[in-house]
Amino acid sequence: MTTIPEHNDTIVAPATADGGAMCVIRISGDSAIEICDTMFRGRRQLAEAKTHTLHYGEIVDRSGCAVDDVVAAVFRAPHSYTGDDTVEISAHGSHYIVSRIIRLAISAGARMARAGEFTSRAFLAGRLDLSQAEAVADIIASDSQWSHAVAATQMRGGYSDMLRQLRDKLLRLTSLLELELDFSEEDVEFADRSELRDILVDVQHHTRNLTGSFALGNALKEGVGVAIVGRPNAGKSTLLNRLAGDDRAMVSDIAGTTRDTIEATANIDGVVFRFIDTAGLRITDDRLEQMGMERTRNTISKARIILHLTTPDDPSEEPISVAPSQQYIRLINKIDLQAGTADESRSDDNFTPPVCNRYDNDPATPTYDNSTDTAVPTQCVMRISAKCDIGIDALRRQLRSTIATDNVANGSIVVSNLRHYEALTRADESLSRALDALDNGLPADLLSEDIRQVLHALGEITGEITTDDILTSIFSKFCIGK
Ligand code: GDP
Repeated sequence: MTTIPEHNDTIVAPATADGGAMCVIRISGDSAIEICDTMFRGRRQLAEAKTHTLHYGEIVDRSGCAVDDVVAAVFRAPHSYTGDDTVEISAHGSHYIVSRIIRLAISAGARMARAGEFTSRAFLAGRLDLSQAEAVADIIASDSQWSHAVAATQMRGGYSDMLRQLRDKLLRLTSLLELELDFSEEDVEFADRSELRDILVDVQHHTRNLTGSFALGNALKEGVGVAIVGRPNAGKSTLLNRLAGDDRAMVSDIAGTTRDTIEATANIDGVVFRFIDTAGLRITDDRLEQMGMERTRNTISKARIILHLTTPDDPSEEPISVAPSQQYIRLINKIDLQAGTADESRSDDNFTPPVCNRYDNDPATPTYDNSTDTAVPTQCVMRISAKCDIGIDALRRQLRSTIATDNVANGSIVVSNLRHYEALTRADESLSRALDALDNGLPADLLSEDIRQVLHALGEITGEITTDDILTSIFSKFCIGK
């Protein structure tokens, strides 16, 4: 296991991906400028350079041979990303040049940076809090307008300030509660119980708003899971290909089985949807396939939207059961055949198909059978032809309308990070226990223990409370150079 290193040594890594016309090599640490001066030849030494200045020159090897023409950007501590002296060398993006420059830096005393080490240094130097540091990884990975919007809000501070303020209020009252413990013989109450109650309720209100936003945040970050289910030959694969179209990002078999889930993604108006063709579901004795199908079922159970594909000649097919959190859309496919035509050249433009796009109910609020915790909604029915591209735009609009991005556009804070969601859920549980303890007049030590747990959970999000394990697990997910 890697541990978070002490940071007085100087680290080096490429900060840009392979294959571009240019590459930035980042060198950061106490000796960054000195190390660069051993290989940089410009009009003056970088040691004389002011912070935030650019310097044109050459990188030369030990024998004085030029390696590349470069521009060196100098950032002096503490005004750099990491908070340490930093030089960013922009060179031509040749793999050879980049590795030569890195080797020269290492031979002059730098060492190769570990995954996420620049950002972990930024965190340790107090330049970013932990949730902002995590957002750096999210923003680099963001692949759509809205996953970018969520990550950008978090990187700019997101809910960190709010959590810090809530923590401060709780901390003040906890210290009063703990003072009472020192005077336990005397039956005194330093912490005003009704004020404490108000604060606990207020904190819980905020944590619940945040946890409530996770389903949306997670969908925006990871892509909205859409499972396409239906009988063999209903047209599932055709629909998946139609929806993914030219934007298809991936069609792959999940490793380890002979026939498995096929996924493709499409960006619909700034939101990535992950379409899952569930054709792999069938009865089999093959153990390996069964395991694959278990994963497929798992994927379906996690999908946010279920598209149930039927055909006009099979109208009796029963709706399938979905979980309350899932949206169900029933599709009647192959309506081109029902219209009595085999002319596949017809499109939405020149043909008015018998598409009803009818909603018997509001699709967002299906009626559920509480006894089984499943829903058997028939409310959203759309008539399409996957093959002839009929009704597909309407389906795209319907899918997109299930994802409410207005709040994100208006600057509302959305939690997209699973670690934060889990910490907020723990905070919420401890808050409920603390409120119970308060309402039942339980002793101050029990109350204070619950509040400590709330403080701990909230502090984990912003990094006021951290362990090596938490930091290692966060930063090891970064690439080298971030
Ligand atoms: P799956 O088994 O559910 O994945 O079904 P496929 O996508 O493999 O489609 C089965 C057959 O139905 C193929 O021959 C498709 O070309 C055909 N098909 C799919 N959608 C349509 C449609 O909208 N109209 C017509 N006429 N045929 C379709």
